[in-house]
Amino acid sequence: MKPKVAFFDFTCCEGCQLDTLNLTGEELVDLLKAVDIVNFREVKTERDNNYDIAFVEGSISRESEIPRLQQIRDYAKVVVALGACACIGGINCLKNHLPMDEALRMVYAEDAKYYDTIPARPIDAVISVDFYVRGCPIDTAEFLKVVKALLLDKKPEIPNYPVCVECKMAGNVCVFEKGITCLGPVIRAGCNAICVSSGRYCWGCRGLVDDPNIASQKDILEKYGLTVEQVIEKFKIYNTVAEVTK
Ligand code: SF4
Ligand code: SF4
Ligand code: SF4
Repeated sequence: MKPKVAFFDFTCCEGCQLDTLNLTGEELVDLLKAVDIVNFREVKTERDNNYDIAFVEGSISRESEIPRLQQIRDYAKVVVALGACACIGGINCLKNHLPMDEALRMVYAEDAKYYDTIPARPIDAVISVDFYVRGCPIDTAEFLKVVKALLLDKKPEIPNYPVCVECKMAGNVCVFEKGITCLGPVIRAGCNAICVSSGRYCWGCRGLVDDPNIASQKDILEKYGLTVEQVIEKFKIYNTVAEVTK
């Protein structure tokens, strides 16, 4: 019997689910040989509540999403958070810096009265989560690594060191040298520092490493004459500011 796998989405852009379909043809065929996909709204209409592994994408931002997520937890043996929205709340949490009625009005204007919203939160604020596939969007190689580990009944090995390590290995010049702040010193690696390698800086989409060295990040800011406020603004984008203050 192949394990039954289900994909679910909550508040999000569904880009992470879409990314799982960006596996190469060969990878996708191998995956479909190994598992039965019984729920996946983006690719099939059939539904089945009998599944072993649930990949859950999106943050929780409405009351009605809470019982739906709890039901998924009840049905699944293993729950995996898929992407930054599910893992750390993600960009949906930007609205948490506003009163909820103001956030609703900004999006829906005079129709705001027809909608409800609550502060956005990661799925592990509502249910227990077994594993995390991080990033905005996820890295498909890491997704496959997690699936393979689950099929072998092993714990997936996800980096627990900062993006700076991969950034240095990629031979990038540190953006702090250009007066730009970067969250790389405290954010979990696994993306090969793709943003810095592409001419940007780390926004923190993979969330914090365990036990992040926040003091060291402050020291770097001081060394380059930058302010804590500048880095806090960047922490807000993916809700890593909430992780820092937990
Ligand atoms: S993590 Fe990013 S790509 Fe994935 S669903 Fe959320 S917003 Fe979309
Ligand atoms: S650019 Fe960012 S990720 Fe790269 S070394 Fe500098 S602080 Fe670290
Ligand atoms: S460099 Fe930072 S923002 Fe870019 S993918 Fe990696 S963790 Fe996310």
